[in-house]
Amino acid sequence: MIEDKNQQRTQLSDLGEFGLIDHLTKQFKIKQTSTVKGIGDDSAVLNFDNKKVVVTTDLLVEGVHFDLSYVPLKHLGYKAIMVNLSDVYAMNAKATQVTVSIAVSNRFPLEALEDLYAGIETAANIYNVDLIGGDTTSSNTGLLISVTAIGEIESDDVVYRSGAKPNDLLVVSGDLGGAYMGLQVLEREKEVYKVNPNSQPDLDGYSYIIERQLKPEARQDIIKLLKDLGVKPTSMIDVSDGLSSEIIHICKQSKVGCDLYEEKIPLDPQVISTCEEFNIDSTTVALNGGEDYELLFTISQDDFPKIKANPSISVIGFIKEEREGLHLVTRADTRIPIKAQGWKNFND
Ligand code: ADP
Ligand code: MG
Repeated sequence: MIEDKNQQRTQLSDLGEFGLIDHLTKQFKIKQTSTVKGIGDDSAVLNFDNKKVVVTTDLLVEGVHFDLSYVPLKHLGYKAIMVNLSDVYAMNAKATQVTVSIAVSNRFPLEALEDLYAGIETAANIYNVDLIGGDTTSSNTGLLISVTAIGEIESDDVVYRSGAKPNDLLVVSGDLGGAYMGLQVLEREKEVYKVNPNSQPDLDGYSYIIERQLKPEARQDIIKLLKDLGVKPTSMIDVSDGLSSEIIHICKQSKVGCDLYEEKIPLDPQVISTCEEFNIDSTTVALNGGEDYELLFTISQDDFPKIKANPSISVIGFIKEEREGLHLVTRADTRIPIKAQGWKNFND
């Protein structure tokens, strides 16, 4: 569908491992003062003075997490960084460094890896993180990308999943379900293309949700906004698997219950119209679709006046006592227990 029209194909073997690493990473600049030594020695060297350090890692596997028939490599590089930075921000930390490890088969020419690294570089520049190392090896099957992200934070500022208290407000940034519906559209167009390779993908009217799927943004801006507003969440998690499983994580780890209001779940109009077209319930998509990379957090009710006017933050429910359980309060005012249904790759 979105074919790699890049005609030039330089064999990876022409460069050798060291030539390849050097070629892909030479244009990356060090931006953080905490990076003492980046790429080029046996280890990177970092200096965080008295700050706490957060570390998170994710592995993306071709055919499981991404499909190169419709994911451009540049977007994949960008997204691989975003999914990790999102985990750093979910601790309320500032992201500072990343490492990128790849396993790649011979079917990829150098030009494909240049695209991947162009996406990584764009993300590193926009989010102000240094690429400080990685590993490069071959793969007999598909492409694998593992990113580790590092961040810094003052001890008192760390926000865990475990701090929610009864009567806190349950809050989410942005809107939900877009990435999942974008994936549905891309999968549909892939099927059309398989039947008729001359067909042009019909993606008009789906640009927002396709961008949510292919080029998500980690919510660094929300971390800054909360700091500026003087609001420290009592608990926080990023929405990678769908709202319901993230709510369950917060409630389990905080030993609390909650009421989530269906009518308060933020949905983009394009998500609503695409759900209608696919005949899928938009609340189900918000609850169980994945990859929105928004932040779900709880705040004390005292902080409500500070956030209430903000269009990028929605209050979607309340934290309750543990014994009251976790419920979705529907538009019809019925109470449905919230169950985990985050999309698990193991079930695919
Ligand atoms: P070693 O043999 O010590 O593992 P490598 O030859 O694998 O060293 O790596 C040399 C340098 O290049 C190291 O700084 C390493 O972190 C970095 N590096 C290797 N592969 C990548 C990659 N895919 N992306 C970014 N940096 C890399
Ligand atoms: Mg190595």
